[in-house]
Amino acid sequence: MYPAAIEDYVRPQSIAEALEAVGRYEAGDALFVAGGQSVMQAVKTRLVRPRCIVDLQAVAELRGVSADGSGVRIGAMTPYAALAEESSLDGAYQALRDAAARVGDRQVRNRGTIGGSLCWNYIAACMPPVALALGMEMALSGKGGERSLAAEDFLGGPLETAREDDEILVSLNLPAAPAATGSAYKKWGLVTDALPVIGVCAMITVDGSGACASVRVAVGGLGDGPRRSGAA
Ligand SMILES: Cc1cc2nc3c(=O)[nH]c(=O)nc-3n(C[C@H](O)[C@H](O)[C@H](O)COP(=O)(O)OP(=O)(O)OC[C@H]3O[C@@H](n4cnc5c(N)ncnc54)[C@H](O)[C@@H]3O)c2cc1C
Repeated sequence: MYPAAIEDYVRPQSIAEALEAVGRYEAGDALFVAGGQSVMQAVKTRLVRPRCIVDLQAVAELRGVSADGSGVRIGAMTPYAALAEESSLDGAYQALRDAAARVGDRQVRNRGTIGGSLCWNYIAACMPPVALALGMEMALSGKGGERSLAAEDFLGGPLETAREDDEILVSLNLPAAPAATGSAYKKWGLVTDALPVIGVCAMITVDGSGACASVRVAVGGLGDGPRRSGAA
């Protein structure tokens, strides 16, 4: 099937240009496209009918991972393939590498982005439970200014988030983790190289005696969307 007619395609070089492009349209008429791995299927099947596509591929400030003593910043347009190779995530944030390395096939990992996955929030996607378990903060920018939301507040039910149509997800931010913290992500599915049926992420900190000091567990693939396990 072919998409409905699209009037305009823009390829901004900066966040400011991207926001300006979206601002020229009524809410929902302009669509950000990151890797296109999810949303272009919806465009082709006419579930989504944008008048304008705002392609974020050339916005360099949305890409890359930086880590220092205060924590880790991940640009929303960072592709899975780059995340899977990111050694600064080893230890506390290893779950991000686990999940990124196992998303789909090589093509999906090269094109698909962590920000796209979180904005799409597909029912069984790998990154939403990882964001919840690791305690990610989402930095957003829109015509109303900038704001930051905890993953719990950003992610809603399947295919729902707190992002406004004209807001860009700029980065995913993680605080410096306590010493002796590790994390992992495991997915289980029916088909290799595809979305899982269920995915689980855990982050655990142990104290000096090796006893568990804190644990955060989150699950994806649930009917009402990804969520943290209160029991854990
Ligand atoms: C064959 C195949 C296998 C797959 N297997 C898996 C898997 O195993 N695990 C898994 O988790 N996923 C899997 N996926 C989905 C994949 O992870 C997608 O890449 C991801 O869901 C969307 O990322 P994207 O960058 O392609 O976003 P897009 O499809 O471009 O965009 C998705 C949505 O996010 C919005 N958006 C994107 N970036 C931003 C931004 N920075 N700011 C504001 N809005 C934004 C778009 O407007 C759109 O609504 C698979 C997909 C395919 C095609």
